[in-house]
Amino acid sequence: MRTQVGIVGAGPAGLLLSHILHLNGIESVIVESRSREEIEKTIRAGVLEQSTVDLMTEIGAGERMKREGFVHGGFELRFGGRGHRIDLQDLTNGRKITVYPQHEVLKDLIALRLRTGGQVHFEAKATGIDGLSSDQPVIRFTTKDGETRELSCDFVAGCDGGYGTSRAAIPEHLVRRDYFRVYPFGWFGILAKAPPSSEELIYAHHERGFALISTRSPDVQRMYFQCDPADNIDNWSDDRIWNELQTRVGGDGFELKTGAIFQKGIIPLRSFVCEPMQHGRLFLAGDAAHSVPPTGAKGLNLAAADVHVLARALTSYYSSRSTELLDAYSPTALRRVWRAQHFSWWMTSMLHRFHEGTEFDLKRQLAELELVASSRAAATTLAENYVGLPLA
Ligand SMILES: Cc1cc2nc3c(=O)[nH]c(=O)nc-3n(C[C@H](O)[C@H](O)[C@H](O)COP(=O)(O)OP(=O)(O)OC[C@H]3O[C@@H](n4cnc5c(N)ncnc54)[C@H](O)[C@@H]3O)c2cc1C
Repeated sequence: MRTQVGIVGAGPAGLLLSHILHLNGIESVIVESRSREEIEKTIRAGVLEQSTVDLMTEIGAGERMKREGFVHGGFELRFGGRGHRIDLQDLTNGRKITVYPQHEVLKDLIALRLRTGGQVHFEAKATGIDGLSSDQPVIRFTTKDGETRELSCDFVAGCDGGYGTSRAAIPEHLVRRDYFRVYPFGWFGILAKAPPSSEELIYAHHERGFALISTRSPDVQRMYFQCDPADNIDNWSDDRIWNELQTRVGGDGFELKTGAIFQKGIIPLRSFVCEPMQHGRLFLAGDAAHSVPPTGAKGLNLAAADVHVLARALTSYYSSRSTELLDAYSPTALRRVWRAQHFSWWMTSMLHRFHEGTEFDLKRQLAELELVASSRAAATTLAENYVGLPLA
């Protein structure tokens, strides 16, 4: 099998890349280890930056998102038992975020890709990539029937997430350097059948730890609270979860609307960057090259931003045979990645309690939150980063 751009992974990065290339007249093939059904029901991100929404709309994948997504012009920071609104729209000249779940984004992108003749091989697991320094790299993969196949291409896009195989094709130490930070806490996430407790998202700081009140639809709510990453969901009855959440977001009479919890899970928090994001004819995009703690809601958005830069570079190559933009891909993408790393680290450090945290740290965090809630300059820094920088 042969194509121009071989893509490993049908997550947001791989699907967006494939469709943008298609619109620019460039052929691609995606190999994806999971089934379509599994991809379409995995619950992950929910907050889309203005630029991601604009990109989805521009490529013709924004219709349902426009209809069903929730556009938010602000969010609430709660600390010291009180809520303080961060007016994103006012602080960023009208930029907003849209709450639209990642699996709905994926449903829209997969349907669009297949409708427009895209080649997506589901249940096809990449096992290795060869020939990266030649002009005919090859992706080796196994099909669901256990057959071994090869996809030869001009370029490989490694869009296979944090646990994929592409990154390993960049020799560690010799070429690749990985930067890690593991946080000493995780997020306990729930999905509940309940009405929204608030019109906008709530990011809460409490001496027992962070909590996030978010939404998925008028009758399904997504909520998280900081927990021990080694904790077990069986330790948490529904009553205990609601009490913990209510304690962390309570104050000034605010009451959470509760309901039946139908999904529980614990995710660890970590920051990771791999440098460079290119080696020979392999280009990494999205979680394959970096991950951020979800506090800043940046992961999916960074994947979209990488792909925007990569698609432009590949398009320039195919129209002029110039490798200038391809050569600039890694440094260009990494500038945004490190900005997002800083923002995600800042939000995480400001809002979570650390095990080693002292009373001094608690008071310092509250002073920092007070600054963000009362200074327009500080709130603008938060708002500009949260709605997302314009695409490069
Ligand atoms: C609980 C949670 C909440 C989050 N909230 C937000 C948020 O609000 N906003 C935000 O922007 N981000 C958020 N994120 C992060 C976001 O989900 C990821 O950053 C995003 O999915 C990255 O997209 P991707 O395409 O790079 O990788 P992925 O979505 O991981 O896609 C990679 C694909 O590659 C496939 N694959 C892996 N290995 C192979 C292989 N060997 N062969 C073939 N295919 C392979 C996988 O099956 C997968 O489908 C959140 C994440 C979590 C876990």
